[in-house]
Amino acid sequence: MAESISFEEAKQRVEELTDQLNEYSYQYYVLDNPTISDSEYDTLYQELVGLEETYPRLVQSDSPTQRVGGPALAGFEKVTHDQQMLSLDNAFSLDELKAFDERIKRLTNHSFHYICELKIDGLAISLRYENGKYIQAATRGDGTTGENVTPNVRAIKAVPLKLQEPVNLEARGEIYMPKASFKKLNEERDESGEAVFANPRNAAAGTLRNLDPKITAQRNLNIFLYSLPVIEGETIDAQSEALNRMEQLGLKTNPEKKIFQSIEEVWDFIKEIQEKRNDLAYEIDGVVIKVDELSVQDEIGYTVKAPRWAIAYKFPAEEAKTTIRGIEWSVGRTGTVTPTAVMDPVHLAGTTVQRASLHNVDLIKEKDIRLNDKVFIHKAGDIIPEVIRVDFSERPAESSPYPIPTHCPACNSELVHLEDEVALRCMNPKCPAQAAEKLVHFVSRNAMNIDGFGEKLALQVYEKELVQDVADIYGLTKEQLMQLDKIAEKSAAKLVEAVEDSKKQSLERLLFGLGIRHVGSKAARILAERFETMENLQTASKEELIAIEGLGDTIAESILAFFELEEAQQLIRKLQAYNLNMAYTGPKFSEEKAEDTFFNGKTIVLTGKLEHFSRPELKERLILLGAKVTGSVSTKTDILIAGEDAGSKMKKAQELAIHIMNEEELLDELDRKG
Ligand code: NAD
Repeated sequence: MAESISFEEAKQRVEELTDQLNEYSYQYYVLDNPTISDSEYDTLYQELVGLEETYPRLVQSDSPTQRVGGPALAGFEKVTHDQQMLSLDNAFSLDELKAFDERIKRLTNHSFHYICELKIDGLAISLRYENGKYIQAATRGDGTTGENVTPNVRAIKAVPLKLQEPVNLEARGEIYMPKASFKKLNEERDESGEAVFANPRNAAAGTLRNLDPKITAQRNLNIFLYSLPVIEGETIDAQSEALNRMEQLGLKTNPEKKIFQSIEEVWDFIKEIQEKRNDLAYEIDGVVIKVDELSVQDEIGYTVKAPRWAIAYKFPAEEAKTTIRGIEWSVGRTGTVTPTAVMDPVHLAGTTVQRASLHNVDLIKEKDIRLNDKVFIHKAGDIIPEVIRVDFSERPAESSPYPIPTHCPACNSELVHLEDEVALRCMNPKCPAQAAEKLVHFVSRNAMNIDGFGEKLALQVYEKELVQDVADIYGLTKEQLMQLDKIAEKSAAKLVEAVEDSKKQSLERLLFGLGIRHVGSKAARILAERFETMENLQTASKEELIAIEGLGDTIAESILAFFELEEAQQLIRKLQAYNLNMAYTGPKFSEEKAEDTFFNGKTIVLTGKLEHFSRPELKERLILLGAKVTGSVSTKTDILIAGEDAGSKMKKAQELAIHIMNEEELLDELDRKG
């Protein structure tokens, strides 16, 4: 392609691409807010590389092919890296990998191996330890100068503050946001009218590069270290050895790594990883292939931007094209009115997709999405289907801009677009859709957990005007419930009982159920533990609230604003009159204590029948002791707690040599440290 155009044409195109790519990089690296997808960026970048190879004279001094990343943000202290933090060259096919292999073999006569690692889609970080103590963290920045993010990185639990041995070292790796945390964060932002992050990488970067470590602490970032450029007083001979040494010192590395002799074996490994990509808890965008022997690496050397001894194979973008058939608007419990695209069904990254979140009204305008447009979609963080862009070349001639709703789809009151928000909002406090959503939330599993009271029922009792607010469910009678669709006497009686039982729930569930803005289940638990009663919390000052680890200004302000509302005070009085428990009844927990426990920081799976605990009970207790309880056994699992008749999970844990604990050992451990 590059050969077929004249020098003049190439010159013009090179200048155009350089400017465009620099602008995209600015949005991506500095603002953490990309305007095009990575695969589109990569396509343009490859075009520029091709032109520059054909006409080396055209390489601009500010070409993105000559530079790493973006400049450090103002507001952070700058850190100069002792050794540059580089990028990686990319390969997109087996042929390109073979070309890489041949190049390496031209550059060295020594025999060597390849080590393959996952390409974690996060942001590069350099950690420094002195005498085994954590002293500094810096972002890559432009490769030479990064941002000092030491306090923020300290808030990431997986970063050890003290190593197993008192060594001086610099380790580098990738900070990332797990897919589940990304999904949760975006849901919360969507709900509170804030702009959502485009992908987990940008969410991680945005989180780390904010000036408040408390925000970092709340967002569940994680880390994998992948290089050890400095370790004083020791000689490391291979990348594989560096990974093992880091693991030994307590620095977390990724378990999916393997050493191979040939590029063909590397290719098989890439295929294997591509298969499991969607099942991983974090986003990867490829596989990194490195020469394992450091002596051979030294021999091969570097370009201005990347090592010559490594390459990143990038997975093809999982995109699909389909047609927008409609846009649905729904009203959330805080009144945000959110659009969802309804599309012709299409297969994408393992599932059939028919709906995609459009997030907010600004996004529809920005991307100029219209009915019957052909659009490209992908899954952000491998999970949430999103519209990337419209294919304007296929837009029907008669198309017109999508008419943005002016009135609430549920109560018809006028919608507002608040200045600091991207969402449209229905401000009517009596809007039935909002009230119904509040009830759905109140009875849900992580809130009051009322058995049998699902979303459909909540919507029905609301529509039938049996309740006006969440407290009214405590006055529902068996006879009233029997008026509803498909509710016979027996289930009505059971429901009344379940509603009655829920009055005993511990304070954190009630707090979460009230749906105070920014107060998720975790913040609710922290609040309940610290304040113990609703009354204490109602009278807490802003200073008392922000002094709590894990809560930020936003949450504190939201709590104060909530309790000031006359409606909120009335609702709480009404719930009190129904005799709801307003105190924390869960186990007592303090952070100091959790840090000491055996279970703190461990990933645990439960299986089989347990004699002394119900599953939810045990799960809650382990979480309070700092553990993460997950549903399936993987290489990330630390402990499998196995009761009677444990089946496939046990087998898998044995295969992966995971610590298996029986109920007796569990009880001992809980007695000792719990
Ligand atoms: P990169 O992300 O493609 O690769 C280099 C980085 O990979 C390293 O710096 C390191 O942080 C990371 N990495 C992850 N796992 C690793 C491992 N096991 N070993 C070594 N390194 C590992 O390169 P880059 O320079 O950070 O970014 C360029 C890419 O960013 C582009 O290819 C494009 O996809 C994306 N980008 C997108 C836009 C946009 O507007 N969408 C703009 C600029 C850049």
